[in-house]
Amino acid sequence: MNAKLAACLWLAATPALAQQDFSKVEVKAEKVAEGVYMLTGAGGNMGLSVGKSGTYLIDDQYAPLSDKIVLAIRLITPDPVRFVVNTHWHGDHTGGNENLGKAGALLVAHENVRKRMSTEQFMGAFGRKVEPSPEGALPVVTFTDAVTFHWNGDEIRAYHVPPAHTDGDVIIHFAKADVVHMGDVFFNGGYPFIDTSSGGRIDGVIAAAERVLGGIGEKTRLIPGHGPVGTKADLQAYRDGLKTLRDRIAKLKAEGKTRDQAIAAKPTADYDAKWGTGFMKGDTFTGLVYDSLP
Ligand SMILES: [Zn+2]
Repeated sequence: MNAKLAACLWLAATPALAQQDFSKVEVKAEKVAEGVYMLTGAGGNMGLSVGKSGTYLIDDQYAPLSDKIVLAIRLITPDPVRFVVNTHWHGDHTGGNENLGKAGALLVAHENVRKRMSTEQFMGAFGRKVEPSPEGALPVVTFTDAVTFHWNGDEIRAYHVPPAHTDGDVIIHFAKADVVHMGDVFFNGGYPFIDTSSGGRIDGVIAAAERVLGGIGEKTRLIPGHGPVGTKADLQAYRDGLKTLRDRIAKLKAEGKTRDQAIAAKPTADYDAKWGTGFMKGDTFTGLVYDSLP
C-alpha cells in the first residue's frame, strides 16, 4: 500500500482527530470520466459530478478541509455544490456536511446514516466514542433502498447494499459516465475495515462486491473509499481475496477456535505483504471477520 493511502487510513482511524494538522493537506482532483472526478485530501475519497444541472458531490471528508474542497471544486466549475451524497456515516466521509449544508447543498444518505449520526456511537474496533453530529450535519433527504438523480445528463443511481462496511452503505453508479463510487465497501490496495459495531459484515462486503461486478464492464472506473481509482479486475481480485480469507476464518471458527486462536493461526499471512501494510493489519482484519461471521 502506498504511503498516502496509509496516511489516509491512519487519519480515518485516529482517535485524536482534533489534534490533526489539516493545514498541510492538499485537496486534489483526478478526472475519471467526462464531468466526473475523484477528489482526495485526507479521509475517504470523494466523487464529483459537474455539468449543466449543477455540482454534485459524494462524501466530504473532514470539516477543517471544507474550504480546500470548495476551492478544488472551483478550479473545475464556478457552480456551487447542490447535492452531497454520503456513502456511509463515518466522520472521514461526512465531516464536511455541516459546512456544505450551510453553503446551500442538500445532504442525502441512507436512513441509517442519519440515525447513526444523530446518536452517540461507539466504534468497537478502535475503542472510540463518537459524539452525535450537529443538526446541520444530518442528511435532510434519506432513503431505504435506492434513489436516482437525473442530473448532469446522467442517471446517477445510489443504492443501498445490505450491511457490508456498515449498515448504511450506498453504492453510487453513474450509468452514462460508467463510473461507480463504492465508498468503503471497496478498499483498493488494503484490507477493508469492517465496522462490526455499525452492523458491518464480511459477507455483506463480498455480496456488495459481487453485485457491483454484475453491473459493470471492463472499462468501468471504480472510485474506492480509500486507495486509487480501480478497475473491474481490481474489484475481482479484491472479491476473490476476501472470499478466500473469509472461508479460512470461517473454518477456524467452525472448528471451535476462539477469536484469539483464530488470529494466532495467521489466516491472512500470504496476503499481509499486499494488503496489510496500512492501518488495517491482518490480525485486526481477522478479528473483525471472525466477529462478523454467523
Ligand atoms: Zn468508513
